[in-house]
Order: sequence, then structure tokens, then C-alpha cells
Amino acid sequence: MTKEDDKAIPVRVALRCRPLVPKEINEGCQCCLTFVPGEPQVVVGNDKAFTYDYVFDPTTEQEEVFNAAVSPLLSGLFKGYNATVLAYGQTGSGKTFSMGGTYTSAQENEPVVGVIPRVIKRIFQEKTKRTDSEFIINVSYLEIYNEEILDLLCTSKDKPVISIREDPKDGIKIVGLTEKEVLTAQEMVGCLELGNSARTVGSTAMNAASSRSHAIFTINLEQRRGGDKSDAVVSKLHLVDLAGSERQKKTKAEGDRLKEGISINRGLLSLGNVISALGDESKKGTFVPYRDSKLTRLLQDSLGGNSHTLMIACVSPADSNIEETINTLRYADRAR
Ligand code: ADP
Ligand code: MG
Repeated sequence: MTKEDDKAIPVRVALRCRPLVPKEINEGCQCCLTFVPGEPQVVVGNDKAFTYDYVFDPTTEQEEVFNAAVSPLLSGLFKGYNATVLAYGQTGSGKTFSMGGTYTSAQENEPVVGVIPRVIKRIFQEKTKRTDSEFIINVSYLEIYNEEILDLLCTSKDKPVISIREDPKDGIKIVGLTEKEVLTAQEMVGCLELGNSARTVGSTAMNAASSRSHAIFTINLEQRRGGDKSDAVVSKLHLVDLAGSERQKKTKAEGDRLKEGISINRGLLSLGNVISALGDESKKGTFVPYRDSKLTRLLQDSLGGNSHTLMIACVSPADSNIEETINTLRYADRAR
């Protein structure tokens, strides 16, 4: 199958605002964001307005986020386009909730289920529909922590060294990483659960179990029409729960935490630079700084170009978080 055209596909941005959580309500926090009905627009305070591809207000259900913003990427995936979904935002803003990073199979069919389990379900539904093709589906799950790649699906004690390599034909390859072939949605969910339980969490003053790492769940899809190996359509989908975007002072970073804070910022900083370079028509053909961090290097062949990218920028509505919320709105604005 050939790509329909070589025109760069723009990065899409969804702004998602969660409801006030009980702690914020108890502390008397007020909502500092307003939403314009029928418009993908959010207003901060009294005047500052931002427009995105999608704006999901606090009443938006997980299903709507999936149907509106994620589902189109899956259609592309089956046509051979790589895709990436990134959840960005300060710790506590709803990244893991949105991505479904704490999913267990006990929650099946519950409305709170996030992006990843919904993607898994859809992929296997599509596979069942396409009886004329043979499918090979692989999954990997890794974490980038202090610029180091950790394999979340590797259960052995002797963990192989992991490196990123660029193959002229196959794109980015992560050598040494576990790739599990899965035949059913249940098997893929099993990988998600296994990896989730292995995730590194550190406690900070802001959130007792905040994640200080980027987590990347990757689905590799190979479709062979009539079992023909030479005519395979290969694509991959990265589902990324980024590290908290808050600046260090808020987390009372010190010692190890400080070191973490710095390298996390490196990934998010270069991601911002890469995405804004991709989105800027005037910068067309200029250098895109993928090599500045492990995160962007790893996502290199799945961001921009012929790949579909969705950033879900997550924010809290509470006035106590207004500074970080504005930072997120600006970061997301730069991505468009
Ligand atoms: P992050 O991963 O960005 O640190 P979480 O996803 O853990 O944040 O969300 C923080 C808290 O807010 C959790 O208790 C989560 O259940 C809740 N939450 C986040 N988004 C929503 C939402 N859209 N609706 C209801 N609760 C939410
Ligand atoms: Mg989280």
C-alpha cells in the first residue's frame, strides 16, 4: 500500500481540563478556566483565550475524547501511517487518567477507562473485521527515566543493554527491548498491566505517587494481504504518558529529585522544540532537533512527516494551579 500523499500531517492538540478534585474543593479552590460552548476555545481568567483543535471541558467523558481525537489516528494506522498520542501536563492534571495508565482488566467496559485500553479494544475489533489480511501484532512498554531507557516488560534479572538505532528502511529500532507478540486483546492488556506495575514512581511534595518518567506503550502492527510477506503494511502507534511538566521549585526538588527534574525537562524541552519546528510552515526543510533527548530520538519516525500526532494537554481548573496551567496552555499553543 502506498502513502496517499507526502504532505506533512499537522500535529493536533487537544486541551483537556479535568474537574476539580475533592482536595481542591476542600481547599476552596475556584475554577479559573471558562469554556466557550461549541468552540474549541478556553479562556483563562477574564481575557486570555487559547484555541486548539479540540477543547474538552471537565464534563467530557473518556469515550468522547477517544472518539473525537484518538479514533482518527487508528484509521491511519491501519493504512500504514505511524501515530503518536502524547499526554502532557503538570503532575495531577490527568495524564495517566486520560491515557488509562492504571487500567486493570477488572475495569473492562467501565466509562472511566482511558485511551490505551480503548485503543487495544478497537485494534482487535478491526483485526477481526479484516479477514483478508494476516496480522502480526507486537507490543513493547518502556520508561525513560533520567535519560535512561527501562524495559517494563522484561521480567528477567539480567536486563540487556538497550540502545536506539536508526535503520534506513525500518526507521527507529530499539535494540534489546522486549517485543511481545500478542494474539488477543486480553494478551495485550496483560502486557499493559505487567508494565504498569513495573513503573517507577517517586514521591514529591505535589503528589505522593507522581511519575517522574515518560512511559511509552508501543503497538507494532504488520498486515499481510493474503499472507503475502513481501506486501506487508507496517505501522506503529506510540501511546505516551509524559513526565510532569511542572517546574522543579514546586516539587521541592533536591538531591536525586533535582537530577531527575533536569533530565525530565530535557525530554519535554526537546519535544516542544521538535513539535514546534514540525508545525511551523516557515521552518519547512530546516533542522528538526530530534537528537537532543532520548524521548524525541525514540519518537523520531512517528512524529511529523507522514505520522499522525495528537498531544492531549491536561490541565487542572483550580486557580491555585493557574501558573502551571498557563505554562501548559502556552506549550500546547506552540505545538500547533
Ligand atoms: P497525572 O497522571 O497527570 O499526574 P492523574 O491522571 O493521576 O494525573 O490525575 C490526578 C487525579 O485526578 C486522579 O485522582 C484522577 O483520577 C483525577 N482525574 C484526572 N482527570 C480526571 C477526569 N477527567 N475526570 C475525573 N477525574 C479525573
Ligand atoms: Mg500520572
